[in-house]
Amino acid sequence: KLEESADDEERRKRRKTGDVDVVVEHYNARPDVGVSQRQESVIIGLKSFNNWVKSVLITRFAHPALAESPISPAEAEGMGRGRAGERPGGVKGRVLDMGCGKGGDLTKWAKARIKEYVGVDIAAVSVEQASQRHSSLRSGPRFSASFYALDCYDHLLRDRLPPALLSRPFDVVSMQFCMHYAFESEKKVRCMLRNVSENLRPGGSFIGTIPDASQLLEKLGALPEDSKDLSFGNSVYTIRFEERTQRPLFGHRYWFFLRDAVDNVPEYVVHWETFVQMAADYGLYPTYRREFHQVFEEHHKHPEFAPLLERMHVVDKNGESKMDEDQWEAANIYIAFAL
Ligand code: SAM
Repeated sequence: KLEESADDEERRKRRKTGDVDVVVEHYNARPDVGVSQRQESVIIGLKSFNNWVKSVLITRFAHPALAESPISPAEAEGMGRGRAGERPGGVKGRVLDMGCGKGGDLTKWAKARIKEYVGVDIAAVSVEQASQRHSSLRSGPRFSASFYALDCYDHLLRDRLPPALLSRPFDVVSMQFCMHYAFESEKKVRCMLRNVSENLRPGGSFIGTIPDASQLLEKLGALPEDSKDLSFGNSVYTIRFEERTQRPLFGHRYWFFLRDAVDNVPEYVVHWETFVQMAADYGLYPTYRREFHQVFEEHHKHPEFAPLLERMHVVDKNGESKMDEDQWEAANIYIAFAL
């Protein structure tokens, strides 16, 4: 096939379907490579670093929400149960992973000793692969899991998932590298936030990772004023905007390419302040927001997370990073958050 310009490719992709279908098609088509093949990826350092950041986030913000606080006999007496250790809400340890993809975080959740995991994603092939990955988990404590193919930004989970599954709230809702797809419209963001807040227990944790709007817009703003090509990046990633600005603040689209991972998929800017204001409407309040390099600076010497850097192949056994500068720049487009 002769070369197709980026514009032609985007037009062709969207003519066929809407943005959502481009996203679904892309993720469904990506092969689920095994652990050994994954190690051969040209951006293995970056992928490993992303996984390390997610492990830090899960350990710091999901573990406390999952931890069972002991019930004193007096408290148990007060509950009229007379039996210590049994809370009226049931045992803790339920996780809802919205945009779970191929189940790349299942091992991290096993290590968090969860009891039950519900994975939901719009890409049905990925959901099937996630389910298979759960069945073939060899190491770590066992937990029950169920998987559903569903657009979490267009449908309420309570209308689509078995009522018994949602009758008890979740301790943690996780949205890793996927929440930005909701920012196509305010309606989708509100639907996503309802799905989080309706299913999260009071005091539970909502954690996630998203591109950092301020960095993206800063790089966009640094392009020459008369430039028609609104793209920037390096040997690892390319971001191409269609418009310099967007009002209202939803649907500010760019096309994202990440070598060996994402093949030019439409994504949307997430303005942090807008997100926080809207989340407050649903009783969700931020407790943590860090750029990825800050997560690294805060945790790379930590007794628990420093050894994990080597175990997760972010650094080699001499402590040398497996990321070159371009991978490091691509990794730092993202921020981690907890609400
Ligand atoms: N969370 C996984 C991880 O960290 O490995 C997968 C991240 S992948 C970059 C983004 C995921 O978001 C894809 O699996 C995609 O299908 C999912 N996604 C995008 N839009 C969605 C929607 N409307 N509802 C549910 N999942 C969606």
